[in-house]
Amino acid sequence: MFSLGHLSVSETGEVKNHEHKYPYRLNFYNTPPIEEISTEEFETFALDRLQVLKAIEGAVLRSKTERQIADHIRDVSNQYLPLHSTEGGKGYPLEQERRKDHISHFILRLAYCRTEELRKWFIKIRFIEENKEERQAFLNNEKLNWKDLTQGEKESMKNELSHANPYIMFDQETFFIVDFEQVPDLVSRRAVYLKAGKAYVPLSEQVTLVVGEFRKKLSVALDLASRAFPSIDDERILPLLNNINQQYFGRTYINNNVTDKVTADNVDQLVEHFPLCMQHLHLKLRENHHLRHFARIQYNLFLKGIGLTVEEALIFWRKSFSTITDDKFQKEYAYNIRHNFGMEGKRHDYTPLSCISIIMNKQPGPGDQHGCPFKHFSEDNLKALLAQTGVRKDEHLKEILELVRGKHYQIACTKYFEITKCLDDLNSRDNGERHLIETIEHPNNYFEQSIKLSKASNGK
Ligand code: SF4
Repeated sequence: MFSLGHLSVSETGEVKNHEHKYPYRLNFYNTPPIEEISTEEFETFALDRLQVLKAIEGAVLRSKTERQIADHIRDVSNQYLPLHSTEGGKGYPLEQERRKDHISHFILRLAYCRTEELRKWFIKIRFIEENKEERQAFLNNEKLNWKDLTQGEKESMKNELSHANPYIMFDQETFFIVDFEQVPDLVSRRAVYLKAGKAYVPLSEQVTLVVGEFRKKLSVALDLASRAFPSIDDERILPLLNNINQQYFGRTYINNNVTDKVTADNVDQLVEHFPLCMQHLHLKLRENHHLRHFARIQYNLFLKGIGLTVEEALIFWRKSFSTITDDKFQKEYAYNIRHNFGMEGKRHDYTPLSCISIIMNKQPGPGDQHGCPFKHFSEDNLKALLAQTGVRKDEHLKEILELVRGKHYQIACTKYFEITKCLDDLNSRDNGERHLIETIEHPNNYFEQSIKLSKASNGK
């Protein structure tokens, strides 16, 4: 072997390029990054990757087919963590993209171990989309060369292999022999021929082997990471690592910029764009002409976020509390309304509450109206509210309740959005244009997405 700058030539004449740190888009993240990065990059990389992982979680739970999952993942990845292949990515900053992928993986490895299942999807979709040569080069690099079945062995087992994999084109297929423990997914799907502790895996299912290998490496790495975690005491990054899973890092929604002026008189016409928590508060307000303290804060800040000014808010609440006197309203309620707008006390300009904050803080007691219906309602009450607000079909109710039982409240909320806005119908109607929504993380984001969708489907 000899080398020339960043090129080396092996005895077989193969030329390798060592110029790039990341020769492949695929990565098993075997080696931690050792370079210096700014705290700003640290935070941005982590949060961008988190967006993608959350979107994957949502897609896996909400989508019906693997195609839909792949579409969701591709769209969100392109937005937050683009990662082009070597062949198709000419003109893109491939090294930068792969560096971000590499570093952000390791940050979240420290912070967010729960995502193992989600990373599986990440690598799976990328592997499927990689071209044949890059896949093979990556596998060679990782020394993942599974033993092939010889042509003679393959022919002698034709009946068994074809029977186990009826959808393959037997004559063109290559098979690998691996220990059956390496492919639990295939074994549980009965999608592989088993004999004497070995599984005979067709090339078309190679991705299962890759994911299995990735999982194995990842669980060792996560174990190492969790042991390293207590020794990290850098006060610049520790808060981010500790709270990344429970904090809302998105927009504050202090300024609505998607609707025309919101006034005390047109709130009722906008309720169809409200998430379930706010629809519930609005219904209760109209029913009782009153809301309790935390419900008022939750709703008032939401209305502030969609564009209600403090003057209009005072009119809105005054009219809504129609059974009390002006004097009582001024004494007991007006101060708090102005306070939310930063006009009283410490003059803090409060932002609308995010889903995480509504779900985790101030648990509602009996008779309270605030909170998140997906998290805080009994199943019967939730069913009644869902039916009242537009979820008519049993299958839809079932889908939402299953997500709620799995404690996926925000994904249930996103599903509710999709169902009540008939997103499937819109997607099949609008000339192949797909209306995708992000997983709901903020009630005001729900509102914004609903307004945008209605404008798009009305062609405005
Ligand atoms: S998930 Fe968020 S937006 Fe949806 S109902 Fe719950 S708190 Fe409201």
